[in-house]
Formats: sequence, structure tokens, C-alpha cells
Amino acid sequence: MTAADAPFRVGELALSEAEMREAGRHLVEAVLTRLTTVADGPPHAGADPGRLRQLLDGPLPEHPGSLPEAIDTAVRDALSYGIRFDHPRCLAFVPTTGTYPAVLADALAAAFHSVPGAWLVGAGPTQLELTTVRWLCELLGLPPGHGGLFLSGGSAANLTALAAARDDRLDGEGVPPGARLYCSSQAHPSVARAAHLIGLRRSQLVVLEPDAELRLPADRLRARIRADRAAGLRPFAVVATVGTTGTGAIDPLPELADICDEFGLWLHADGAHGAAAALTPAGRARCRGLARADSLTVDPHKWLFQPYEAGCLLLRRPELLRRSFAMDRHRLDTGYLRPARAGGEETNLDDYGPQQSRGLRALKLWLSLRTFGAAAFRRAVAAGTERAEYAAERVRSTEGLELVTPASLGILTLRCVPAAAGASGPGPSGAAADRLQEAVSAEVCAGGRAVVLTTDVRGRRALRLCVINPATTRADIDETLALLAEAGRRALAAAPGRHAAPGPRRPGT
Ligand SMILES: *Cc1c(COP(=O)(O)O)cnc(C)c1O
Repeated sequence: MTAADAPFRVGELALSEAEMREAGRHLVEAVLTRLTTVADGPPHAGADPGRLRQLLDGPLPEHPGSLPEAIDTAVRDALSYGIRFDHPRCLAFVPTTGTYPAVLADALAAAFHSVPGAWLVGAGPTQLELTTVRWLCELLGLPPGHGGLFLSGGSAANLTALAAARDDRLDGEGVPPGARLYCSSQAHPSVARAAHLIGLRRSQLVVLEPDAELRLPADRLRARIRADRAAGLRPFAVVATVGTTGTGAIDPLPELADICDEFGLWLHADGAHGAAAALTPAGRARCRGLARADSLTVDPHKWLFQPYEAGCLLLRRPELLRRSFAMDRHRLDTGYLRPARAGGEETNLDDYGPQQSRGLRALKLWLSLRTFGAAAFRRAVAAGTERAEYAAERVRSTEGLELVTPASLGILTLRCVPAAAGASGPGPSGAAADRLQEAVSAEVCAGGRAVVLTTDVRGRRALRLCVINPATTRADIDETLALLAEAGRRALAAAPGRHAAPGPRRPGT
């Protein structure tokens, strides 16, 4: 008899209590080591695919092994490679930082098999999620009546919102050829992907060029919607971005809400990164109009300091989600689900989104808020905003650096503009300047002290900083800017021709 033919023995998929305790302590130590030492190493540990295959791509383990050893392997050979978003000088993308309560939340939710899907299945988890959603609405200053659910992130939230918009505004039966959705070219690609997934052709997504401040221009949007309606098309929704990922630009929500009211369109606000600014009075003023959006994406795994995955979709009328997602609407021969139907005041969150079985993502935010208090979150968001202002001020006063877009929602963009050695004339321009920014980013990342990547602003390359990590200090900002300025000087000195020669202009994006 081979091992595979042997009968299953009770306990084969379990550990003894002593083993569980030992592995648990081992895991907590691994977690603490990561959390307390991340700043000691570089903010990015890259590895090429061949190396990682060699480390990890072993045979399927047929026989039992040591759990603590497997944990060590995962930490050493897998989890340690990649960007360390919680490193104080990881200033790329939208860094998330996590909290210790959130780490424990994931373990706790898994241990209890918490499923806030149907009330019958997860009554307590469901109420905890509903309460956390209400707390989040209160944090953002949304009026009572708003509600929603947790999702994997901004991409899933945008998709869920646009499915609801389609079903609410296009009579619930697919997408007619004339349907049109509007956003600016600064919107997140998950918006275009969501449009594709809800059945729009690319030509049905109308992408407008932004204004000088990189915002969706309300006047041009109104004119376009008017023209499209006159041509017999069916505009049904507008996506406003509250904090574009590239530069932190904020689309003018009040004006866009007026337009949507005028034409009966759904307004979706993608605040995956930026909506969290509304935790502070100044941020709330900048994001005014949030409450007028029919739906709002906010990612607690961005500026609310939660580890992945934690996204959230909030709606003015959350019951509209049921039109798209209620299990009953999609009923086949599913008598086995009848006992799980919600009765009376019960809520089945699987009627509100695309997942039936769903993890208790809300527990991370719930435990973090209970542990630290909302006031600490407000101060942390305010501190991120101030840190970005400080960074912008330093860019302005640093020789060889130039601010491209001002600090907005914790994000700023800049350029290295080193003066050619001994020359009084202007430094590199055009494509040469673009190449210089790439070279600077590459050199700083390779140096292992900071991660700073590039983006395109109005068709030209720029360096981008997102400085919302509460562990990032002014000294970290100073050091990073000094590294950038120095790398700019060195790149120009090393290849003056390459960076100074006017090369072919890249097409704007
Ligand atoms: C990050 C981001 C998204 C995507 O969110 P994920 O959580 O990565 O899926 C969508 N929109 C904006 C504006 C973002 O910044």
C-alpha cells in the first residue's frame, strides 16, 4: 500500500496543542522582527525570477514537515523580497503601513472562520462589519444613511460601484450600445478595467483630458454630455477621482455632482487613496462634495494604515447594491440557500457585493480603531498632509530640484534640474530631461536608502513622492531629497551628452 492509499487518520491535519503554541510563538516573533526592524534594511529587496524559483519552486511536499521551519522559509525566501511599503523611505505608489492590531485581526478572523456573508452564517461578523462601515462613514463626515461593505480594494470597489450604476441607470438589463461613462485621463486604470468588466466597449468610456490642475474639467464634461445626449447616446455615470494616484489631484465634486443631477447620471467618487483626507477639517474642505457622490471608494489599506486587503465601497443609498448583487436575483436551483435568507432586520452582506463567502476584512480597522482611537488616525492623516507640504517646501529651496505639482493629499511630484557643470545655460530639457529623471530614480533605488519612482505629468517624466507613512520623518524627507539632487548631478556629469542632447520627444500620455 502506498502512502496515498493509506486511510486518513484523525489528527493528520492538526497539530498538538503544544505544537500550536510553539509555532504561534515563533510566528509572533517573526511578525515582531519584521515590524521592529523594517527601517534597518533597504526599502526594496529585488530578486530575479530565476533566483526565486530556485529558492521556492520545490516539489509538492508529500510528507509532513516542521511548521516553524516552513514559517522561516516563507519569511526568508518569499516574504522578504519585494517593496517594503512600511519602510519610512519607501515613497513609491501609495505606501501602506499596517498596524499590529490589524495583523492579529487576520489571524483571529481566520481562526473563527468569520464569514460576514449571510446573517445565519456570520451574525456577529456581519454586525461588526456594519458597525465598522458606519464608523468609517462618520470618520469621513458622511451623513447617516450612507452604508456599504468591505471589498478587496479599490479595484473591486470601483467595479462593484459601476455595476450598481449600470443597473440603476440603464434599466438593469445589460449595456445598450449608446451607453456612455465619463472620467478623466487621470483616473485609475481600474476604472477602465471595471468599465470593460461591466460590458462597455472602450469607445463607451469617454476619457476627457484634464484641466491645467489635472482635474476633470466640469465645463467640458457638461458640453460633452450635452452633445452626446443630442446625438442620441445614453450617458449614465461619471467617475470623479478624489486624489489621482499620480499627483493627488482632486476632481471638482460639487460641480460634477451638479452636472450629474442635471442629467440624471450616477456619480462615483474614486477616493481609494484620497478620501481619507476627509478625516481632517482641512482635508474635508478640500474634498467637499463627498457626500453628494452616489458611491465612494475608499481603501483602508492605503491612507488608513491597514495591511492588504482592505477596500471599502460606501453608497448614499446602499440598498441599490441589492439590485445588482442580491443572491435571489441570480437564483438558479439553489434551494440549499433558502435557509440562509435574511429575515426581519437581518442583513446578508452577500446580497450587496460580488462575493458570497467573504473574509472579515473589517476586523482590521475595527481592532485598530479600538486600540488607537479615531483621534490618532485623524492626527496621522494630518501629519501626512503636513509632511508633504514640508517636502514641497524643501524641494522649492533645494538647488537642482524643481516642484512639478504641489503637495496634494500627501503626494508631490518634482524633477531633478541639475545645472550643467561650469555652464550657466539651462540644464537638460525635453526627452533628455525625461531620461535624467529615470536615471535618478534608478540610481536612488539601487542605492538602497530610498524608493522613489517616476510618473508622467502632462506628458513629461517626473519623480513622485507619496509621504503618508506615519513613520516617515522630516529627516527621511531631507535625506531622500538630498539623494535625488545628488543623483541628478551625478547622472548629468556621467553622461552630459545623453542628458543634455535634445532627443526625440516622446508622445504625451
Ligand atoms: C490604488 C487606487 C485604486 C486601486 O485600488 P486597489 O486597492 O489597488 O485595487 C483605484 N483608484 C485609485 C485612485 C487608487 O489610488
